Amino acid sequence: MTTILKKYFGYDEFRPFQKEAIENILGVKDTLVVLPTGGGKSLIYQIPAMMRDGIVLVFSPLISLMKDQVDELNEIGIPAAYLNSTLSVKEKNKTCQDIQDQKIKILYIAPERFFVGQFQEFLKTLNISLIAVDEAHCISEWGHDFRPEYRKLSILKSLFPDIPLVALTATATEQVQSDIVKQLSSTMIPMIGSFERENLSLYVHKKQDLVEQIINVLEKQKNESGIIYCATRKKVDSISQILNAMGYHNLPYHAGMNNISRTTNQNAFLKENTNLMVATVAFGMGINKSNVRFIIHANLPKSIEGYYQQIGRAGRDGLPSDCHLFYSSGDVVTQEYLISQSEDATFQELSFQKLKEMEKFARNLECRHKYILNYFGENRDDYHCKEKCDICLSCDIKEQNITIEAQKILSCIFRVPYPIGVSSITKILSGSASEKTERFRSLSTFGIMKEKTQDEIKNLIDTLIDGELVKRETGKYPTLVLNKKSQDILLGKQKVIIKIKEVQEIERELNYEIELFDFLKAWRKKTAEQEGVSSYIIFSDKVLIDLSSYLPLTSNDLRKISGIGEKNFERYGQFLLSAINKYCRDKNISSRMQGLEIKKNMFRRGGYKSDSDTVAITYALYKNGLSIDEIAHRRGLSPNTIFTHISDLFAKKRIPSSDLSKFISPDRSEIISNAFIRIGSIEALSPVKSLLGDDFSYEEIRLVRASMMAEGKG
Ligand SMILES: [Zn+2]
Repeated sequence: MTTILKKYFGYDEFRPFQKEAIENILGVKDTLVVLPTGGGKSLIYQIPAMMRDGIVLVFSPLISLMKDQVDELNEIGIPAAYLNSTLSVKEKNKTCQDIQDQKIKILYIAPERFFVGQFQEFLKTLNISLIAVDEAHCISEWGHDFRPEYRKLSILKSLFPDIPLVALTATATEQVQSDIVKQLSSTMIPMIGSFERENLSLYVHKKQDLVEQIINVLEKQKNESGIIYCATRKKVDSISQILNAMGYHNLPYHAGMNNISRTTNQNAFLKENTNLMVATVAFGMGINKSNVRFIIHANLPKSIEGYYQQIGRAGRDGLPSDCHLFYSSGDVVTQEYLISQSEDATFQELSFQKLKEMEKFARNLECRHKYILNYFGENRDDYHCKEKCDICLSCDIKEQNITIEAQKILSCIFRVPYPIGVSSITKILSGSASEKTERFRSLSTFGIMKEKTQDEIKNLIDTLIDGELVKRETGKYPTLVLNKKSQDILLGKQKVIIKIKEVQEIERELNYEIELFDFLKAWRKKTAEQEGVSSYIIFSDKVLIDLSSYLPLTSNDLRKISGIGEKNFERYGQFLLSAINKYCRDKNISSRMQGLEIKKNMFRRGGYKSDSDTVAITYALYKNGLSIDEIAHRRGLSPNTIFTHISDLFAKKRIPSSDLSKFISPDRSEIISNAFIRIGSIEALSPVKSLLGDDFSYEEIRLVRASMMAEGKG
């Protein structure tokens, strides 16, 4: 067995479970193999194929992948073939002849083929050594990509009772596992590998300025391979365009593109002509690229299964890889809408349930890895990844009392005389002026949370739903229903305390003092041991890196480093300061606290709001030196529209005020700004326009106003 492994695949050792599963198969026992992506599932049927007489029949759901799989096997000297609709009649006949002549060891087919014409009769004439059902979760209605034609495979055992059967999948909850066994063979022996992927770091971020957040990741992963997943084709196109315009070369991939472009783009990624793919989840199924270093989800995925499958495409070579998920409550609404479009009630309910689990994962404040392992039934409550997820890395999980907010929300739900959903209640609480909320104006709760943004209110409501402090019905129009806990909160019998995570991004490329960092790390380890706690409880790596980067020398500076709580400041502050002071003296270097100030200011950028996608494209092109007319021409938009974008960018300080003279002469801009001053307000453009007359255009006036806003003269 090991000889074959070495001879064909070049490995010296089996990975966990491979050997056991193969021994099972050789012992003619039906087997269910659940191994995470990258765990080497296909070897489990490929090795027996070379050890036994006859042919291995493999059911695979993806016609598009069969060719690659077969090419790869032929490449290493294992004769394989496939039969599917992409072959010509001549090719089909040739393959069938080869099979009959026993020239083929592994045959790939789609389940549909199995039920066509005389195909089963043909198979019965062959010496089949093993039947493998790949992506076996497709057989289960509980699976996240159920295929009805897969379910028909339940007749396999009765047609071929003496041939061993192996079902393989990378993602299966206990429910799906037992369904596979029930459908395929009740005597199946399950072999469940661990879902732990130690080399993946999982980060979940609230979506703020998506493009900027993505670019932050890309900057850290320069020249590495990665995939950005978006929920819709439209989003794929827009993100792909923006990034290309900003100089991050990438190719798009989604089902709306024609076959040729899809294949071309996919190959460019595999051959490393491009490092970056922006794609819907249609991309990546079975793609064998071992060095994908990062996966970005621009939207919340539909299910944990899907998420895990997609991030499983990173780090198959076992090297550290990062997975970033950006989500907002808007993502949930989009997904819910998509689900509600389905006619199938069972499917709908199941999908809502899966989406809920995914949402919980994103909002959860426990180790990300632990959550996934538990989800897949590993029951690892004591698990802690230590530093492979955003939660374990951030040592600052704070408690916040939101009882008053909760009471406002719940009493608003109580006061609306009929069932109401999250987005309507949000509008009422925020006092949003729209037709829909008009009839609620008389409610005492109308606008009682107007100091908060709608997103903030939605987040609060989501938190209440998560904590089961109010119930959200699932279904097409999910409404909010008060329960016993809601009543207790309203009556003041129960407080609502939530945990919040201090957002800490790890900056790998910071220029930190490695020696100092190592010293602090060793100290942290010793201290943790003495106190009988985990190291990260003392300080996260991020804190140590910040200390070694910015070198605080005084108590005041030390307090500016985020992640050092009051208690730890008292306990360890003096030690840290004397250690850092000594280090700086010895090395003759000074503090770099200024760097921290600059960084903080960058993130604070006055009134900074996210650009819409279209403004972001304009910005990218502008930064690449294109004029307004050129941008308008390239984008097929009017110069006036581009001018508006540019004004917007001035107002947000994305374009510095010093660039103003590129668009308008200093004389003219002075006349306009004086006019605003005379009017005494920058609220409206028209008073200035009537004051200045036809010599000045609205575009110019808007532009000057934007630069005045940026300078805080508004
Ligand atoms: Zn963790």
